[in-house]
Amino acid sequence: MKKYIVIILCFFMLPLFVLCAGAVQIGDADGNGILTSADARLALRHSVDLENLDADALIAADADNDNAVTAADARLILREVVGLERFAGDFRIDFIDVGQAKSILVQNGDMTMLVDAGNVQDGELVCDYLYHCGVTSLDFVVCTHAHEDHAGGLADVMNAYTVTQAVFAPSLTADTANYKNFRDACKAQKLTPIHPTLGSTISFGDCEIEFLGPALADTTDLNDSSIVLKITYEDTSFLLTGDAETASEYAMIDEGFDLSADVLDVGHHGSSSSTSYVFLRQVMPEFAVISCGTDNDYGHPHEEVTSRLADARVITYRTDKHGTIQVISNGKALAFYTDNDFEADIPDPPIVKQYIGNINSKKFHLPTCGNLPAEHNRIYFASRDTAIAQGYAPCGSCKP
Ligand SMILES: [Zn+2]
Ligand SMILES: [Zn+2]
Repeated sequence: MKKYIVIILCFFMLPLFVLCAGAVQIGDADGNGILTSADARLALRHSVDLENLDADALIAADADNDNAVTAADARLILREVVGLERFAGDFRIDFIDVGQAKSILVQNGDMTMLVDAGNVQDGELVCDYLYHCGVTSLDFVVCTHAHEDHAGGLADVMNAYTVTQAVFAPSLTADTANYKNFRDACKAQKLTPIHPTLGSTISFGDCEIEFLGPALADTTDLNDSSIVLKITYEDTSFLLTGDAETASEYAMIDEGFDLSADVLDVGHHGSSSSTSYVFLRQVMPEFAVISCGTDNDYGHPHEEVTSRLADARVITYRTDKHGTIQVISNGKALAFYTDNDFEADIPDPPIVKQYIGNINSKKFHLPTCGNLPAEHNRIYFASRDTAIAQGYAPCGSCKP
């Protein structure tokens, strides 16, 4: 998706053109005549970068015509664009709000896969969710690791839903009642959990799913034993990391896996023990989703992680704020839907390095220079080249 060519089916676009008839391509922020989620992302960026926005782009991105470009415009564009319809054949992934726990439903066409099911008390909620999504059986179930906040609800789910193909779980287990219940539920369906081979793939509808973890061979740490999945649907990709922590992240990098993904399911609920800079640089997601509970006891997500994500300009959704988060992919573009109309964490625009010129001496300086002119004699330049082009010379002491 990085290269970003977006082709949307004509029937799909038709309502939009009707909707937009007479108006300037409202929402078409990049002015290419097609409304895509790229426009929404552009609107999101513009919402934090108004000063550098030219007038036409401002009109185009202001989807609700209130003369301000905000994340609300982006959501409106997203809804108009990919919203329509979670039509069959498309890919959909739901980060179910199970509080301080994790549960993710993946669907492509008729295929369904459930990755974790939250705590024991979330089992019923997840069953209800599946029911409301029209799920009648599950093709695959993945238990990322044996902690209760992932495996706890699986027994309820598997007692209610037949698993038609396979259950995956890491070899490291836990001697807990809830994990025993999960294994009993597997037994009742005559299924033995498969420990996926590192780097192996399975096909899932039109997707490919690759097992990139657990990459630490003999770990005794349950979090680091997490199964990590990379799901690729045409040009879009998703990395689901369970509770994998830094050691596991480094091991995946050492394996030389292509970890790049458009959407990162943030490891271990946003704990600072996961999502290292090094790992984030490999994934380079455009979006992140954090599964965590409101006012949870662990302080998740940790400030270190939200900062790292902001530094990497990742648009971040979180279940404690947004509720259940649904991501739709048409293979080229992504759309996000959330229970709550809470604005995604939009990273600030990159800091523009400013150069300060002296209108009398025609010299320009770094903002840290000791010889800065008085405020009324200043002119600001966004780049060194602009300063030089306007006839200013670099200061000899700060050497900008
Ligand atoms: Zn967890
Ligand atoms: Zn865990």
